[in-house]
Amino acid sequence: MRKLEDAYLHKGLRKQLVAQLKEKGITDNQVLEAIGAIPRHFFLDSAFDKIAYEDRAFPIAANQTISQPYTVAYQTQLLQIKQGDKVLEIGTGSMYQTTVLAAMGAEVYTIERQKQLFEKTSKYIFRANYPNVFFYFGDGFEGLPQLAPFDKILITAAAPEVPEMLWQQLKIGGMMVIPVDESETVQRMLRLTKKKDGTEKIESFDEFSFVPMLTGKTKS
Ligand code: SAH
Repeated sequence: MRKLEDAYLHKGLRKQLVAQLKEKGITDNQVLEAIGAIPRHFFLDSAFDKIAYEDRAFPIAANQTISQPYTVAYQTQLLQIKQGDKVLEIGTGSMYQTTVLAAMGAEVYTIERQKQLFEKTSKYIFRANYPNVFFYFGDGFEGLPQLAPFDKILITAAAPEVPEMLWQQLKIGGMMVIPVDESETVQRMLRLTKKKDGTEKIESFDEFSFVPMLTGKTKS
C-alpha cells in the first residue's frame, strides 16, 4: 500500500478548496470544518494526489466516482447533521462522504452495491478515528430495515424516484436528501422531511448530475 501522507501542500490546497466552497454558497461551518480537516487525497488513486483538491468529481474503482466536494458539502449542509445523528447513506463509493458525516459526529450506516468498492471498506483508514461508521454490502433501495429508524437518510446516486422502503425507514421529524431524476442526465436535489402525521414536506433545490442508483448488487 502506498504511504499516506498529509503534507503541507495538501493542507494548503484544502484551505483553498474550503474558500472556494464558501464562495459557492456553502455556509455551514461544521461542513466546512470537516472538509478542511479530511485528507481527500487519501480517498483517490495516488495519480490524482495533486489535483485531489480541485472542486470536481474523480473516477474511482468499478466505474464509479467520488462526488465533487461542492456536491458533498451541499448534500451534507441540507441534512443539518447534529452530533449523534443516526444516518443511513446509500452509495459508499470512496468513503469520502461517509467520513465527512462521521467527522461531524454522526453514526453512519452506509451501503454499497459494488463488491469491489465494498471490499475496500475493510481497510478503512479512519477506522480508529471513527468507530461510529458501519459498512454494508447490499442494495440501497432496500435500506437497512433491521436498523431503522434513521434520523437522516442520504442518497448519493441518481434515484429514479423516492424509494418507498427508504422513506419508511426515516424517523418522524427526520430528513432525507435525494437527487431525483428530471431527465436522463440531470437530477433535482430534494429534501423530504417526515411530518408528525407521517406525510412529507418536500423542498426542491439545485440540479446535479450523479451516477445512477441501480438495483441489486454485483457478484464481483
Ligand atoms: N458517496 C460516494 C459517492 C459515490 S458515487 C463518495 O463520496 O465517494 C455513488 C455510489 O453509489 C457508487 O459507488 C455506486 O456503486 C453506488 N450505488 C448505486 N446504486 C446503489 C444501490 N442501489 N445501493 C447501494 N449503492 C449504490
